Amino acid sequence: MPKDFLKHAKNHYDVVVIGSGLAGLTAANILARQGRSVLLVEQHYKLGGMATWFKRPGGHIFDISLHGFPYGMVKSCRRYWSKEIADSIVQLDGVRFDNPMFSLWTSFTREDFTKQLIEKFGVEEASVVAFFDKARGMNFYDDQTTTARELFDEFFPGREDVIRLLMEPITYANGSTLEDPAISYGIVFSNFMSKGVFTFQGGTDKLIHQMEAELKKSGVDIAINCDAQKINLEGGKVKSVEVDAKGAKHTIACDAVVSNANIRQTIFQLVGEDKFDRGFIDDAKAVRLNNSSTQVYMALQPDDQLDVHELGDLLFSSTAPKFETDALLSRDITSRTYSFYYPKTRPHADPRCLIVSSTNAHYHDWADLPEDEYADSKQDLCETTLDALDKYVPNIRERVVHVEASTPRSFKHYTAHPAGASFGTKFEGLAVSRALPQQVTGLYHAGSVGIIMSGWLGAMNYGVIVANEVDNQLMSNSSLSTAAAEQGVAEDVAAS
Ligand SMILES: Cc1cc2nc3c(=O)[nH]c(=O)nc-3n(C[C@H](O)[C@H](O)[C@H](O)COP(=O)(O)OP(=O)(O)OC[C@H]3O[C@@H](n4cnc5c(N)ncnc54)[C@H](O)[C@@H]3O)c2cc1C
Repeated sequence: MPKDFLKHAKNHYDVVVIGSGLAGLTAANILARQGRSVLLVEQHYKLGGMATWFKRPGGHIFDISLHGFPYGMVKSCRRYWSKEIADSIVQLDGVRFDNPMFSLWTSFTREDFTKQLIEKFGVEEASVVAFFDKARGMNFYDDQTTTARELFDEFFPGREDVIRLLMEPITYANGSTLEDPAISYGIVFSNFMSKGVFTFQGGTDKLIHQMEAELKKSGVDIAINCDAQKINLEGGKVKSVEVDAKGAKHTIACDAVVSNANIRQTIFQLVGEDKFDRGFIDDAKAVRLNNSSTQVYMALQPDDQLDVHELGDLLFSSTAPKFETDALLSRDITSRTYSFYYPKTRPHADPRCLIVSSTNAHYHDWADLPEDEYADSKQDLCETTLDALDKYVPNIRERVVHVEASTPRSFKHYTAHPAGASFGTKFEGLAVSRALPQQVTGLYHAGSVGIIMSGWLGAMNYGVIVANEVDNQLMSNSSLSTAAAEQGVAEDVAAS
């Protein structure tokens, strides 16, 4: 008999959270701490969504999306998770760029970028200061029509090398491009520039296990292998969620839903387009998905140690003569971001060095390949990556003991994001996500959307914002029902 993963669930919860990405996990934890009954359902057999890892025989543990995040994670983890989690966040030792325009090392801070822009790139100090101030001052309510390209042209006209330095890492961090609104660039860039790039010591597995322990402490009921298939409404309000728990199907009643599934999937599959206003549906249909990724995972022998001072932690490498969105996404790969993992990543595990090469990619380049061609293309991705990496890690072919690749199809398979979108949607997805509760009472979305709310910090912080809105709604429901109950009592008294 297949196992029923919802066997022990209650019939009713205040909130059902669909999906255990960082936004879903954080929203669930906050709501439970606020005293709400919360059920968290995850279709995969593991919590974490894109914040995930996998193990291979021989002791290799590969992280998928633990390459770097801004310092803001420390505060968010301390406030919404635990001091223990926040205390594992450490700064990367070194970030490098290597491309036909320039090669440099940086601490990835405003101070260091300012110095390099003035001394190495010969830019006027006044322009650099004005650019940083403008980026720092950007917020969501600003002009959304100016593109990142126009922002750069205002301060650094004709300087493709400067644009590459400023934009390439952010494209990698959230998929944004020169054609996207400048604010989606400015907010994320400034977050990184405040103190540099950080990582979680102990690996993604440690983080997610610690979060799971916190969720249990907070009283969240957690159900993996549970695919939410339908959100039922009644009178314009959320009523229940239908869940396929492998061994059985369940309908769980609830007062609110936080969907951490992709916003398009939430609207068009889980709820259904007939439940929304026409204008809202038009806006939702216009939301573009963000791009996906390919990755190559490589492991060295435990006794083959790499030197962080020689290689750094993060290396943005490219052979393209200039920075272009099309080149970044092309199957003909010219840009690779290497993450080097040293024994310091998992101090208590095997002292082994791993390398993950990541490249942004189009889903459609991989989606319809027949199985044999797909396997060949993955092999080719591994081979060409080893060739490219040899420049930085000599004789890499002889040194690797494990190599494998993932593609946009892998990301779609594990997270159910349409087109394997690594960073949710383009900018317009944010307004649609925010407008959901005005369409259906009790229906919320928290998760990678609109570029700004993606990435570990963006997703987590969006979970916080949405959890507080859900709590307010539940509070006003209960004050309405208290008022209704009091009114009923008053009427009874008057009648008697
Ligand atoms: C290759 C790669 C590298 C990255 N590198 C970085 C990085 O270095 N730094 C950084 O900050 N960010 C990085 N990111 C992005 C970051 O990982 C994500 O933006 C973030 O983790 C997304 O969190 P989320 O809350 O939006 O949910 P997701 O991680 O998208 O998770 C959504 C969850 O919902 C579940 N789900 C979906 N539908 C259903 C359903 N119907 N029923 C039940 N469950 C469902 C999915 O299985 C999944 O677990 C990277 C992403 C990728 C792909």
